[in-house]
Amino acid sequence: MSHRPVSEPVSSDLTGQTSRRSFLGLLGVAGGAVAVAGGTAALAGCSSESGGAAATATATTTLEPTQPTGAWKILREGNDRFVRGEPTHPHQDAARRNELEAGQQPRTVILGCSDSRVAPEILFDQGLGDVFIIRTAGHVLDPGVIGTIEYGTEVLGATLLMVLGHTSCGAVEATAGTLASGEQPPGYIGAVVDRIIPSVAQITRDGAGLPAEVDPDVLRTAHVRHTVAALTGYSTALREGVSDGRLSIIGVEYDLADGKVRLVEVQGDVGEQPEA
Ligand SMILES: [Zn+2]
Repeated sequence: MSHRPVSEPVSSDLTGQTSRRSFLGLLGVAGGAVAVAGGTAALAGCSSESGGAAATATATTTLEPTQPTGAWKILREGNDRFVRGEPTHPHQDAARRNELEAGQQPRTVILGCSDSRVAPEILFDQGLGDVFIIRTAGHVLDPGVIGTIEYGTEVLGATLLMVLGHTSCGAVEATAGTLASGEQPPGYIGAVVDRIIPSVAQITRDGAGLPAEVDPDVLRTAHVRHTVAALTGYSTALREGVSDGRLSIIGVEYDLADGKVRLVEVQGDVGEQPEA
């Protein structure tokens, strides 16, 4: 992974950069200084009009793409194109590849399920350098996953973090099955299930009934929300990012049937609240 961001439109508000610099200094994060220096170079480079592929990506929005609200709007618009069957496949050409050779500055970190039907670049119609993605079955967390997320937000400077669940998630259904039957899945699949059990336990404790009786849609949403809460519970960096206003964390669900995404949880501000 490269630490040097590419030149593309960035906010003229340096607050986020400043707080990130001081934060990285406190953490002693390797590469942090390089990232901040690169960010400064990117800021200097944005005095001229943005051109090429970067301009294409931002042409449909007036919001600042490096802020959480703008980052979410870009993904929303990409999903709309995907649902309509009119993807533009942005940032997938040789020019973009060449632009990114010097470094990356993704706007959004996505922690999604490994399910082969839920590929973030496709369902949000994104391209090279746009999204920093971690995928595990059932979007479960472990130290390496959280560390990768922190790399995306604290070093690369992404301002939006998304947990992406989906309908018919086999990992969530397997967890409900394990709790109902008491039979452990084979091998390390059990380690995945173990990390989903707290989400299921929380909702059944709250009165939803036995795991086998709970609507799978309810379980799935609970697991997305619980994962968002767990991230800020585990990670001081992510928690402070939200409280400082430089990071927003959202929970999103993807519907396999119609391709639409739905906001189910927001920490921070993305200009939209979850549907009731
Ligand atoms: Zn899944």
